[in-house]
Amino acid sequence: MSEVNDFSVHFWGVRGSIACPGLQTARYGGNTSCLEIRCGEELLIFDAGTGIRNLAKSLLTNKHLELDLFLTHTHFDHVCGFPFFGPVFKPDTQLRIWSGHLLPERKIREVLGFVMTDPLWPIQLEDLPANISFCDFSEGDVLRPKEDIVIRTAPLNHPNRATGYRIEFRGRSICYVTDTEHFPDRINGNIIDLIKNSDIFIYDCTFTDDEYHDHVNWGHSTWQEGVKLANEASVKTFVVFHHNPDHDDDIMDSIATAVVDARPGSVVAKEGMTLCP
Ligand SMILES: [Zn+2]
Ligand SMILES: [Zn+2]
Repeated sequence: MSEVNDFSVHFWGVRGSIACPGLQTARYGGNTSCLEIRCGEELLIFDAGTGIRNLAKSLLTNKHLELDLFLTHTHFDHVCGFPFFGPVFKPDTQLRIWSGHLLPERKIREVLGFVMTDPLWPIQLEDLPANISFCDFSEGDVLRPKEDIVIRTAPLNHPNRATGYRIEFRGRSICYVTDTEHFPDRINGNIIDLIKNSDIFIYDCTFTDDEYHDHVNWGHSTWQEGVKLANEASVKTFVVFHHNPDHDDDIMDSIATAVVDARPGSVVAKEGMTLCP
């Protein structure tokens, strides 16, 4: 890890599938997926799980926010925090929402609109005061949301599809790869190409190898597969992410020990943690 911290990732939600607050998950955290990536002055948000509510609170005093929100996909655990994202209620907020898993059949404005439809939710997407724009792209596209920031994308292996991201800033890189299932007979070449030689690789580790056998085709992977990918792609730091809601803190501790044994320097994501590449 470098001492230069103009590039960082902060974990606001690390849990997969459903939020699981409680005493048994307090140390690793119970909120679902949300990352804050800082590139100099720029703020990029990845996924709008329940963790995004606390991110919003951290931005309360900021005026004229210019934000980019990148969605891996639109399963509930990755979008259910969106209606609670405070900046969307402020007219001076500029928000761009990016999504790569829907074209050509659908667009993100329409799909996010479903979630906020009467009678599922009382406030409609089009009634939000913020200035929101929608950027649908195709997986594989290279995005340049701001000067100095390059984001590479790749399709993942997940029901209803999902997008993996590689964020590059001033010669360093953070990869965010969730939700995805590995193949039984081969390593996922799309992921290897995306994460090659990256500094930080955040990966869907919902299951252990032992648990996976009963969850084939659920669309999720294991920390053991993550280690394999990290080694194959010569990644610097491997980060275990999208924790199973049934994995309490004691189970997460045992996974942390095992993953560090298998690949020294690996990290298990915890809510509130910040990493700098
Ligand atoms: Zn998920
Ligand atoms: Zn999913």
